[in-house]
Amino acid sequence: MAPPDLPSFGKKYLRLFADYQGPTTLRSCPLTLAAQREENIEMKRVTLTFDNGPTPGVTEAVLSILERNGLRGTFFMIGEKVSAPGGVALMHEVHRAGHWVANHTLTHSVALGDRPDAGYAVREIDEAQWRIAACATPAKLFRPYGNDGLLGPHLLSRAATAHLLRGRYTTILWNSVPGDWRDPDGWVERCVSQVRAQDWAVVVLHDIETGCLAGLPDLLRRLADEGVTFTQDFPDSVVLTRDGHPVSLDPAFIADAPTSHDITR
Ligand SMILES: [Zn+2]
Repeated sequence: MAPPDLPSFGKKYLRLFADYQGPTTLRSCPLTLAAQREENIEMKRVTLTFDNGPTPGVTEAVLSILERNGLRGTFFMIGEKVSAPGGVALMHEVHRAGHWVANHTLTHSVALGDRPDAGYAVREIDEAQWRIAACATPAKLFRPYGNDGLLGPHLLSRAATAHLLRGRYTTILWNSVPGDWRDPDGWVERCVSQVRAQDWAVVVLHDIETGCLAGLPDLLRRLADEGVTFTQDFPDSVVLTRDGHPVSLDPAFIADAPTSHDITR
């Protein structure tokens, strides 16, 4: 199969928030345009995501905290952990609570760009999707393994990208990695700073033993004090593919991406 067409490098930065018209409540308010603009500048959105679970003994507690705060997010699950003891039951619990169950690869071991053969990509993506199928969102949310939350060409291969497009996966990245697993004392403060620094933060947390659990109540209090709006959706700026089409797909995230020379030849 031919590789997918890729948008030219850097365009995604120009498209950031181009379609954003502000929260519905503000759109329907009889405010002047100037006042609306001022309000929109103040209004921060936050999308919470929980990666690398499900983890018995941890995910349930994260769910309780979210329920107490009336919040819903997305759980990007590792296929092998879903199949481990207790995994399937936890996945159903996450789903029943109204969170989105999403795909975070089968093994979470070697980034797709670091092993660019098609067989590996298809297995890592489809086998995990099969294991979460009973609860997965129809949009087939997929997040590649980032290897410490890094954004770069290791995230995808050309074969993986073609497969995500062909399979109509919604490929989701992130723009906030506060580091809950490596800095238990500092990650909450770092997260608040990262939220302040952008209009719509897509935050990566982890429902693993060494993850966000202990600091999560504090984080949610801090973000509520900041007056953020929590949402379950994702801004286009972190969506690489959706429904068979590139959104913010960028060759900078594809290890063996065609160069401009390859494309024009
Ligand atoms: Zn991960």
